[in-house]
Amino acid sequence: MTDRVETLIIGGGIIGHSISYYLNKSGVSTVVVEKSSSGSKATRAAAGMLGVHTENKQASVFHKLCETSRNLYKELSKELRNLTSIDIGLSEYGMIEISVDSEHERELAAKKEEFPDLDWITAEEMNHRYPYIKKTGGALFMKEDGHVEPANTCEAFKRAALFYGGRLIENNTVLGIEKVNEGYQVQLETGTLIAETVVVSSGADSGRWFEATGLENPIVPTKGECFSLFPARQYFKETLFFRNFYLVPKLDGRYVIGATSIPRDRSTTTTGGGLARLMNDVFAVLPGLADEPFQACWSGIRPGSVDDLPIIGEHPNLSGLYFATGHYRNGILLAPVTGQMIRDFIVENEVPYPEKEMLSPGRLATHERRVTL
Ligand SMILES: Cc1cc2nc3c(=O)[nH]c(=O)nc-3n(C[C@H](O)[C@H](O)[C@H](O)COP(=O)(O)OP(=O)(O)OC[C@H]3O[C@@H](n4cnc5c(N)ncnc54)[C@H](O)[C@@H]3O)c2cc1C
Repeated sequence: MTDRVETLIIGGGIIGHSISYYLNKSGVSTVVVEKSSSGSKATRAAAGMLGVHTENKQASVFHKLCETSRNLYKELSKELRNLTSIDIGLSEYGMIEISVDSEHERELAAKKEEFPDLDWITAEEMNHRYPYIKKTGGALFMKEDGHVEPANTCEAFKRAALFYGGRLIENNTVLGIEKVNEGYQVQLETGTLIAETVVVSSGADSGRWFEATGLENPIVPTKGECFSLFPARQYFKETLFFRNFYLVPKLDGRYVIGATSIPRDRSTTTTGGGLARLMNDVFAVLPGLADEPFQACWSGIRPGSVDDLPIIGEHPNLSGLYFATGHYRNGILLAPVTGQMIRDFIVENEVPYPEKEMLSPGRLATHERRVTL
């Protein structure tokens, strides 16, 4: 007999496991199907910044969504630790966006006007506080924008979902979905399941599920490379954000530095050229770090989208089929609010989010093709 499930989630990255956590906590049981191991793709590659203000130049509906999600992390950090004993590594030392020339300084000053709660640090203060940063101009201090440890956060969501009754199938790929009377018949490598609802959260591999359900593929896979140092001493605790790179001091002492950005590149290698460009940029501004021990380098594929916004909501023509993907550079930041939105779509039907239309898969349906299911 075919196994029946309430909600089947395709992909066990941070987005899939956040959704699974919020659904199971609300009494809707899920099965997450992950083709390799949980959190091993874009999630593991991320620096984990909760960059509400580095990702937004203006106050907007999207900015509000980012802020809501960042704020959820405070409680989540405690809640997930209580349920799983995992520390998600929430850093609350803030971020500093540093100007590199006068034009950049004007841009940041305009941002300060837009977000009056942010603090301005003059060039003089910057040079005094951070003497090892060469040639700095004025900077914006975003005291609320910290970071988390992405792999730990994904693992904590996963375990908390299992605690509330969720199921997980790893090392098994979803090969196809077909609309049937009771919902969806889902074909795995090892058999079939019937699910009342299906959520596509398969990161940079999500495009095929749009195509298979009659929509244009909106996913733009974008490769990113990073490296980390393990400095002998702590230079600063705040995340430093420059135009070409960022530097994230992790709570365990590592400095994560990223990232290159190569649209439509799905290769998984970390290239010498990519790292060299990144290192040249970093060491030109922070020469002292060049003497610190190298720790690791890696790459990952961000799930970008054609309009740079995530795609969160129900398929325009197929009820019970949801997308939660296209989070591009902000999947870690937006994981909590994405989980809550999909929970509300499935549990409540009526969702009070003003972002609903802006993020809906239907906005991408202008070139709709015939539904092939
Ligand atoms: C270098 C880099 C730095 C980044 N830094 C940040 C940052 O500082 N802050 C931030 O917010 N975001 C950051 N991001 C972006 C963030 O990593 C992503 O937006 C986020 O991880 C997306 O999560 P996801 O769960 O959608 O995708 P993934 O983590 O890629 O998970 C998708 C999962 O789906 C699985 N899958 C795919 N197809 C199938 C199938 N058919 N069947 C079963 N399973 C399947 C995959 O194996 C994968 O595990 C960064 C990304 C990169 C690459």
